[in-house]
Amino acid sequence: MLSAPDATSIELAKRLNAQARLFEVVTSSPLGASLREVVLRGDPALAGVPGNDVMVRLVDAKGKYVRRRYSVRSIDEAQGLVTLWVVTSHEGAGARWAREATPGDQVDLIGPRGKINLDSLADWNLFVGDTSGLASFYRMAQSIEKPGRVVFIVEVDDINDALTAPFDEGLGVTGIFVERNGRAYDDPTGLLGGLAAFEMPAGLGHAYLFGEFHVVRALGVALSDRGMTQEQQSHKAFWRAGRHNAEHGEPEKDL
Ligand SMILES: Cc1cc2nc3c(=O)[nH]c(=O)nc-3n(C[C@H](O)[C@H](O)[C@H](O)COP(=O)(O)OP(=O)(O)OC[C@H]3O[C@@H](n4cnc5c(N)ncnc54)[C@H](O)[C@@H]3O)c2cc1C
Repeated sequence: MLSAPDATSIELAKRLNAQARLFEVVTSSPLGASLREVVLRGDPALAGVPGNDVMVRLVDAKGKYVRRRYSVRSIDEAQGLVTLWVVTSHEGAGARWAREATPGDQVDLIGPRGKINLDSLADWNLFVGDTSGLASFYRMAQSIEKPGRVVFIVEVDDINDALTAPFDEGLGVTGIFVERNGRAYDDPTGLLGGLAAFEMPAGLGHAYLFGEFHVVRALGVALSDRGMTQEQQSHKAFWRAGRHNAEHGEPEKDL
């Protein structure tokens, strides 16, 4: 039986103009070498619209409560289920939570969070980033109506993380997975190479860049150099190499 979320979650949700609810872990299972799928039962309204995420309240290695943000991969309204895809290849409170989550565990969620939604005017949509972006990329792309066009360029540490998703038949879909091959996490050359090989289709495009802080910056510059305006780009640094995300779940933005 679910009770109430922590008072700090209720207070924070109020400030963020969002909702706080207690969710229960249904399953946590491996999807690839670095990714786990965590299915939670609770109020699916917190999942918002494609592009939104939820903020999860967790305990870090020192026993301190921190919050981490995870994009919603999918929802099942009828069953009240919200699915997340969590990268677990590193040591961190979020990664540990996903690895150890056990059916019946309770967790505070705040949502919906996030301001990046699909550009309804775009003729084609380009999703670029690393494994942490996959959940959001696929949820957003699955909400695009045919005859849209989507392109994914995603860097993976392990080819077993090159997960695919089903799309509407009328949608033109291209997926390019770039293997990291031991490059540093803040090295953008893999994705820049993938981007260089991508020929921009005709019409109005929109690019969504989600992943490591420095890599997202470098990708944004590369897209601007190729003529995409700021309005055609949505950037979000999900994490930062060598640093914990801050308590509120975002990477530090200082240089
Ligand atoms: C809006 C938003 C949406 C997000 N959506 C997702 C999502 O859907 N799935 C997801 O997995 N993450 C997502 N993230 C990122 C996730 O919240 C962070 O990666 C988070 O830092 C992981 O928390 P942690 O406690 O495990 O590691 P932290 O304590 O933050 O970091 C510990 C160490 O692990 C490293 N690290 C953190 N993340 C990664 C990574 N992905 N790969 C390699 N090393 C890493 C850090 O550089 C640091 O050295 C999102 C972040 C934001 C802001």
